[in-house]
Amino acid sequence: KVRVRFAPSPTGGLHLGGVRTALFNYLFAKKHNGTFILRVEDTDQTRFVAGAEEYITSCLDWCGLTPDESPEQGGAFGPYRQSERKSTYKQYADQLIADGFAYYAFDTPEELEAKRKAVPNFTYGLANRLEMRNSLSLTAEEVNVLLANHTPYVVRIKMPADELVSFTDLIRGYVSFDTNLVDDKVLLKADGMPTYHLAVVADDRAMEISHVFRGEEWLPSAPIHILLWRYLGWETEMPQWVHLPLILKPDGNGKLSKRDGDRLGFPVYAQNWTDPKTGDLTRGFKELGFMPEAFVNLLAMLGWNDGTDQELFTLAELIDKFSVERISKAGAKFDFEKAKWYNHEWIKNATAKKLLPFVKDSFTAEGMVLNDDVRLEQVIDLIKDRCNLLTDFVPQSSYFFIAPEVYDLASVKPKWTPEKAAFFEAYTLDVKDGPAAAELEEKFKELAGAHNFKPGELMLPLRIMLVGGKFGPGVFDIAVNLGAAETIKRIHKAIA
Ligand code: GLU
Repeated sequence: KVRVRFAPSPTGGLHLGGVRTALFNYLFAKKHNGTFILRVEDTDQTRFVAGAEEYITSCLDWCGLTPDESPEQGGAFGPYRQSERKSTYKQYADQLIADGFAYYAFDTPEELEAKRKAVPNFTYGLANRLEMRNSLSLTAEEVNVLLANHTPYVVRIKMPADELVSFTDLIRGYVSFDTNLVDDKVLLKADGMPTYHLAVVADDRAMEISHVFRGEEWLPSAPIHILLWRYLGWETEMPQWVHLPLILKPDGNGKLSKRDGDRLGFPVYAQNWTDPKTGDLTRGFKELGFMPEAFVNLLAMLGWNDGTDQELFTLAELIDKFSVERISKAGAKFDFEKAKWYNHEWIKNATAKKLLPFVKDSFTAEGMVLNDDVRLEQVIDLIKDRCNLLTDFVPQSSYFFIAPEVYDLASVKPKWTPEKAAFFEAYTLDVKDGPAAAELEEKFKELAGAHNFKPGELMLPLRIMLVGGKFGPGVFDIAVNLGAAETIKRIHKAIA
């Protein structure tokens, strides 16, 4: 039975790598008729950020990655917030101590820090582990006295010396770690809260997780987790490991970070996130005008492909085609231009009906309430393949609804003349009956000939009259959408 979890810590906004982890979990679950779980890993109270959980939930909703079990929905394996599971972890720390795999450590963080500073070129790992293990030389009685006196302590795992912890990662294959290079991580903190390492193992077991899909940055933690599965006597229940490739900066030089987005001018978060402490806003793909379908599509392609050249996939197709074998080991460069290409394709291929609500809301936000849906859908069809972002619709189409105020006919070459004005005056008579675009164009050309103009010279002035600028779809399509009366009005206004 496939059961997978997305296990974010509510410490801030959701980086696109986080959403991709959620997506791969989701795809794998749906592909195998399994269960997709959202578990909130909020045991580190110093990093807890108010509102972050709601934000994560809302990002998953926006992407259509609805969990089957979560803090909100509940489920048979709840609670789904680690802070609400606090009482379940201590027994495992106790068990590990009793079995000699973990120990009470009474040194305060300050004492440890002072010792570290005293060691030249301090490195973590076995070489310097002895200082952490001070408390191991205490007798059982001494430990009991300290405990009885409520001396603050942490529980640390006792990393074995000279062992190779190896496992099979479904992407990376055989992986092994030398235990001498890993230090005695804290399992239970002084406040009684478990650390990530203990909580993740306890909960993956309690929730019967079958596969752990997570970012490659967690690979170095895997040996600790594997030892915990073993030391707790659960090795036969251990999930399969799937460490997803990193998402890299556009130049491939290191992991993509929030700062890269600020520096290079593109979002790395799914939705806008305002840090409640600083008030700083980090922009998101949603508000920038990405369709959720496009966002999901482009995330899926960061480190995965179906083995063909196909790049556009619906969520349903992704579920159908997804396979762990086709996830690459190598990091995936994030290319914002390519991301916009996906969005452009999705916008272009979307029906006007689907785009309508967003476009309508965008106009409303600009103070323009549009009620004629039929006409707005026609406008959307005319301009959608000129839009990379949903937010391009308003600037690309507001002239359909508001006549341009400013014209720059003087900028048109060859220059504007009274003869041209006369041509346009005559042309308004052709427009009057509101014929179809093809006919309007035909008449325009005929009339141009009769006035001894090349139609090409007059096309741009007409566009400027109707649009106010040198952009937009076919000018006769625009005229048809505006209707005869409005088209004539704009021509008159321009030549007046
Ligand atoms: N809480 C971890 C995180 O914030 C989860 C890592 C894991 O999936 O094991 O990413």
